Amino acid sequence: MPAARRLSLKKPFSHWPRLEGAVVTDGAIGRLSHVISTQTTAPSVHRGRARAGAVGPRYRGDAWPAVTAGAGANGGGARAGPGGRLCVAGMRSRQRAFAAVMRLCVKCLRVGRRRRFRLAWRAQQLWRYGHLCLRSLLYNSFTNSDVLLDSLFEPIYWLVDHVTRWFGVVFVALVIVLTSSIVAIVYICLLPLILQTYPPGWVCWHLAYGHWNLLMILFHYSMAITTPPGNPPQAKSNTVAVSICRKCISPKPARTHHCSICNRCVLKMDHHCPWLNNCVGHYNHRYFFSFCLFMTMGCIYCGISSWDMFREAYAAIERMKMLEKERLQVAANQTYYQTPPPAFSFRQRAFHKSIVYLWVLCSSVALALGALTLWHAALITRGETSIERHINKKERQRLQKKGRVFRNPYSYGAWDNWKVFLGVETRRHWLTRVLLPSTHLPHGTGLSWDRPPCVTEPRTPLLAI
Ligand SMILES: [Zn+2]
Ligand SMILES: [Zn+2]
Repeated sequence: MPAARRLSLKKPFSHWPRLEGAVVTDGAIGRLSHVISTQTTAPSVHRGRARAGAVGPRYRGDAWPAVTAGAGANGGGARAGPGGRLCVAGMRSRQRAFAAVMRLCVKCLRVGRRRRFRLAWRAQQLWRYGHLCLRSLLYNSFTNSDVLLDSLFEPIYWLVDHVTRWFGVVFVALVIVLTSSIVAIVYICLLPLILQTYPPGWVCWHLAYGHWNLLMILFHYSMAITTPPGNPPQAKSNTVAVSICRKCISPKPARTHHCSICNRCVLKMDHHCPWLNNCVGHYNHRYFFSFCLFMTMGCIYCGISSWDMFREAYAAIERMKMLEKERLQVAANQTYYQTPPPAFSFRQRAFHKSIVYLWVLCSSVALALGALTLWHAALITRGETSIERHINKKERQRLQKKGRVFRNPYSYGAWDNWKVFLGVETRRHWLTRVLLPSTHLPHGTGLSWDRPPCVTEPRTPLLAI
């Protein structure tokens, strides 16, 4: 053996990273340790060709016995004496130890790489799954700025819906309490004064009109809060639907909309009224409007009737405040030697304050509810609901850009719209169905919209919404 066969461990680990991917067995690693120690017979390994496929015949077990038997630090193993044998044995034990350490390192590297690779693969799979879920949830072929804004304001809508749902009972109780207080003040304070001071003709008129107005308010309010607005059938039916409700997942007839507070679809939905704690729809729309109208009329009536009394009561309250101020000054300075003016009794104070409360509340409600009533009257004149008002406005603008004219398919003209809304088919109905309490049903079922018989001029619907 040439003397050049010396131990050379220059860059002993330089070839290990190149073993990745190869099926390295224990025997192969043992042989690799020999390669490291001898170097002369395995230059290709040091050049980095120790891959399983690139080792070649020199790497096979049958090509190595000549090396293992006599390989030593001093040259040929055949010339080595006992000392040389000991040295060779020591060298072999070190080689084995080194090979064991290398095996351990290879295992650690392999396990570490495998674990990192598995974690990266799982993270990639999770990312792809999450991305797919997000896209499937958010995908909408009709996505536009409105949908985006709705999505952003969804938490606020949710809060408002729940607050309105739970406070509906409170609002109804408030309406009943406030109305009862006004009626009580009218009976206790206003009516006795009218009976004492007004001429008989005016007294009769006040009694008749006041009680008729009160009766209409009570009747229409009780009907509005107790009459269901009408809902489309949940079971399969022959109803002609124009769309599918996204919340109910059921067919939606024309003019039907979903109420997020009631959590159901409502026929010819106008809006959800918190003061009724009920939806305003096909079957109670007339009750709602009549209540608004008669309540506004009642408030205007009370405001006008109590105007003179309100001015007197207001002046009396101002005098009460001045007297109270003077009394406090007397108590503080003790300089008031004159006889103090007579103080107002509790009954007088309550009377004046009640009149002021009645006038302020009635005039406020008359203004607010009057504006709402006028708005709904304009909508009824056009044959629209509050929701259709927005839909028709958009549709009108869209068609206008195309040079076309939008026509509401549910409008039969202003006069006929009022007749259809109030259910007036004959002249007698103006008295029995409008001016007196009536429980007659509206025309149609709210599922389909045929032309009512009271409509004189037939019109062909152009568009169903
Ligand atoms: Zn619905
Ligand atoms: Zn509702």
